[in-house]
Amino acid sequence: LAKQNGRAYFQFYVASIDQEIRDRKQLEKDLSQALTNHQFHLVYQPQINLETKRVIGAEALLRWEHPERGLVPPDYFIPVAESNGSIVEIGQWVLDQACWQAARWSDEGTPLRIAVNLSAVQLRQPSIVNDILETLARHNIPAGRLELEVTETSFMTNLSDAVEKLHRLNRAGISIAVDDFGTGYSSLTYLKQMPVQHLKIDKQFIRDLLVNEEDTRIANTIIDLGRSLNLSVVAEGVETAEQEYYLSQRGCKLAQGYYFSRPLPSKEFETFVKGFHQKFVENNV
Ligand code: C2E
Ligand code: MG
Ligand code: MG
Ligand code: MG
Repeated sequence: LAKQNGRAYFQFYVASIDQEIRDRKQLEKDLSQALTNHQFHLVYQPQINLETKRVIGAEALLRWEHPERGLVPPDYFIPVAESNGSIVEIGQWVLDQACWQAARWSDEGTPLRIAVNLSAVQLRQPSIVNDILETLARHNIPAGRLELEVTETSFMTNLSDAVEKLHRLNRAGISIAVDDFGTGYSSLTYLKQMPVQHLKIDKQFIRDLLVNEEDTRIANTIIDLGRSLNLSVVAEGVETAEQEYYLSQRGCKLAQGYYFSRPLPSKEFETFVKGFHQKFVENNV
């Protein structure tokens, strides 16, 4: 009986692996056509200065509308795009689109900073610095208007190459944020060498900020680290007024999260920016 069960399980297992491989192949195929089929768009999440209660910029986040599956989460397809290299082309599209949008906002009298996520795979491309500078120039966006978000893993494979590229981007006027700070292979040695200006506290530490003492201490430590290294600290995943209050009292100046707004399509984002000052300041929240 055991043997029979084992065999049945084995066949089931093989069948499911087989299915997984086919799903993955299909996903890669769909992904490779997503750009040409115009299935991508960007949404924008406001970044708030907690002291001035002003929207200082937006993080651009990629969305894939699959014709059958619907919205596919980036945490699911980005790793696939990174492993087969298509993130290079997709990432360039994101940068182009984000710069185009920043130029429109600027035309309309709201010159906002735009933050774009840059994959470690993109950073490894020899032409990446030129590609980014060329994109800014094409859209006539001042380099100071762009922020690039990189994760700690970007520094892992080839530290000196990453340092050199980020320095060149910095010299051109682009600022660099370390995304999901505290979840990767954080090392103070990297942080000292990396030309970065912002630390983004990962949302996993913010979620239970006021419930879990360890999360409180980790967030405090990152805020203090930012102060001593002269880096600005952005809290991501702020969902409640209590979290916002704690962070601003503790000296964290910037935040983003559902409490302020979910990531929004560009038109809704513009409406949000227009209404924000009234909503949060005049109500004295
Ligand atoms: P990320 O860069 O750390 O982006 C923050 C994520 O947190 C976003 O998820 C955002 O929608 C979500 N978020 C914002 N506020 C809250 C909140 O208050 N609560 C909670 N629970 N979540 C919040 P999203 O858009 O699903 O993106 C997931 C990840 O996918 C991003 O994490 C980033 O690593 C990656 N990603 C998204 N767009 C791009 C892109 O254009 N290029 C690259 N390379 N990666 C991207
Ligand atoms: Mg990010
Ligand atoms: Mg993050
Ligand atoms: Mg992330």
